Amino acid sequence: MSSTGFIYSPRFPEHDTGPHHPECAERAGAICHGLRTRGLLARLRVIEPKPADEAQIRRVHASKYIEEFRYACGHDAGFVDSPECPVVRASYEVAMLAAGAVVDAVDAVMDRTLHNAFCSVRPPGHHAERAHAMGFCYFNNVAIGAEHLRMRHDLERVAILDWDVHHGNGTQHHFENDPNVLYISIHQDPRTLFPGTGWSHEVGVGEGVGATLNVPMMPASGDREYRQAFETRILPAISAFRPEFLLLSAGFDAHREDPLGHIMLSTECFGWLTVRVRELAEAVCGGRMVSVLEGGYYLPALADSVYIHIEKLMDSEVD
Ligand SMILES: [Zn+2]
Repeated sequence: MSSTGFIYSPRFPEHDTGPHHPECAERAGAICHGLRTRGLLARLRVIEPKPADEAQIRRVHASKYIEEFRYACGHDAGFVDSPECPVVRASYEVAMLAAGAVVDAVDAVMDRTLHNAFCSVRPPGHHAERAHAMGFCYFNNVAIGAEHLRMRHDLERVAILDWDVHHGNGTQHHFENDPNVLYISIHQDPRTLFPGTGWSHEVGVGEGVGATLNVPMMPASGDREYRQAFETRILPAISAFRPEFLLLSAGFDAHREDPLGHIMLSTECFGWLTVRVRELAEAVCGGRMVSVLEGGYYLPALADSVYIHIEKLMDSEVD
């Protein structure tokens, strides 16, 4: 039986960002609670991840930065690089587990232990740059997973779709020179939201021109605008690229109730987006797909959106 994996560590809440930080420890528990009370958790293959090893992290991050992050955690520095990226003693180990979750999910999908997977990780990753933490992100979990697919599994073409409401600057910058990793981001217009990048004219650099696609959306855009962007631009671009594996940076902060963004997606729209992306993965890469949690800050909407996301990932199960 092929199945959907839920990659989660009970240590994820140990990355304690304090009482007023949107990327709070309670996010992890809210997702698990929502899945458990509605009976979905029992139908998932729950896997506790191993930490990533440093060689896997170094494919994406500078050694000096890795050391600075570890030092900040070990010496009660309070934060790394900026106050928006707070640290406690456990933060380094938890971030290693979050990256390791994506590595383990990728391995399980590649060896067909799992059909697809959702990595319910924190801290998130897509803002993390090569040499600095940014936007609640420390290690770029998705980028580490994509590099692992290429180095460990010899894949040549990997697509990363990022539907978090914020542009995934760290992921784009890591792959923007590379024609073999397609990075597509749909996000709120950079004039109106952090991090201020992800303009439609950012299409890649050098040999990588054409392998970056940014789809900025005006504030107040909703289900109809997102569906149209997916049908006319995003899904055709992934299809034309013919990836061997699809990674999804799945933020849920484009939800209409999220406090950080101004996009108006319904919970149901995340279900629709998931179905369309999963169907595309079935068509182009045998369904090989790993979804990785990024943002999502209003806990009831986050729990509901992740529930419907996973439910639609499971529709592909073949008994
Ligand atoms: Zn976000």
